[in-house]
Amino acid sequence: MSHPSDRAPDTGYLTDIRRALHQVPEVGLHLPRTQALVLEALSGLGLDIATGVNCSSVVGVLRGDADVADAERRCVLLRGDMDGLPIREAVDVEFRSRHDGAMHACGHDLHTAMLIGAAATLAGQRERLPGDVVFMFQPGEEGFDGAAVMIEEGVLDAAGRRPDAAWALHVMSGMLPRRVIAGRAGPMLAASNELRVTVHGVGGHGSAPHRARNPISAAAEMVSALHALVSRTTSAFEPAVLNVGEFHAGTMTNIIPPQACFSATVRCFSDEVLDQLEADCRRVCHGVATAHRLEAEVEFERLYPVTLNDPSAVAFAADVIDDMFGSSRRETMTTPVAGAEDFSRILQAVPGGMFFLGASDTEDWQNAPDNHSPHVVFDETVLPDGASFLSELALRSLTDAASLGQSGFPRQRS
Ligand SMILES: [Zn+2]
Repeated sequence: MSHPSDRAPDTGYLTDIRRALHQVPEVGLHLPRTQALVLEALSGLGLDIATGVNCSSVVGVLRGDADVADAERRCVLLRGDMDGLPIREAVDVEFRSRHDGAMHACGHDLHTAMLIGAAATLAGQRERLPGDVVFMFQPGEEGFDGAAVMIEEGVLDAAGRRPDAAWALHVMSGMLPRRVIAGRAGPMLAASNELRVTVHGVGGHGSAPHRARNPISAAAEMVSALHALVSRTTSAFEPAVLNVGEFHAGTMTNIIPPQACFSATVRCFSDEVLDQLEADCRRVCHGVATAHRLEAEVEFERLYPVTLNDPSAVAFAADVIDDMFGSSRRETMTTPVAGAEDFSRILQAVPGGMFFLGASDTEDWQNAPDNHSPHVVFDETVLPDGASFLSELALRSLTDAASLGQSGFPRQRS
């Protein structure tokens, strides 16, 4: 796949890359075939390339050639995630997944292709760039915290200076009209956390529960109490989700098992609510266990933090959207969504924003399958817009220093 380096890549080129990626979805932190495709597509663009040690990341740094004093050079980071999901693809297209049991069902193949497109576009304009662009090709977004691994391996210092702004775009099916770009200031996606509980009872014969201590009844009470927590202890104006999705206990009707375990996802949009929910979960589980004369082991793992869009970054991006595509293609979301993103880790360190791009494969987007469905089909015709939006954000982040302020966007507190 060769690309024209003197102009923005055309739709055919981006579609070819996306389809090549779509056929080889890989799950987790190690994506060797995906990484090889990305490295091939970036070769010849004149980027400084580094690959990950503990993951198959690719970091490309484009050094702008515009003549500016070193102190005035700026840096911007663009991120595209690259991993697929453990889903068997149910869509019958010629470029369907050839990896049985894996699928690009969240559109990360489109993100990777768009970021390659942005890299090609910006590489063709390097003489205009008064600073550096870091292209962050990230594995392991789907629950593997690839962003944390890449931060640990230095992505934020890849250009030798901290980025002044960071941007990411996520395609969405079934959520937005086609080609609409949506975002909001402040919380964009939830903090995602996992509660894991093991209740230790005393096993015995099902005919004599009084001679045993059945952990199932205690665990079942905990589930009911936990599901009531959100409405009882958090404000009506502080959204939160607590859902038990797994429950395991027992082997046979006439056996009282020695233990029962369950796990829940716990999601919210502020650190204060998260602290409170964690304390509530621990108190409820230990309290119910004590009432049953049992012990409970309670683990509460904080996974991805809240994805917080910087308000001034969102305003900056809104101008870019209006100039490029017109305001009819821009939507301000009234609420965040309860999904989670490890781009939140980048936004904890660098001001910027994440945006959604409507990419249902039908005008009837309300009834289109959602991301993560085995039936989801993304509209490839959004690829050039996605690539050019990212490259324009990067270009203006470097050149419109006045809009950004000398020290970048003001930092927001989480
Ligand atoms: Zn995704």
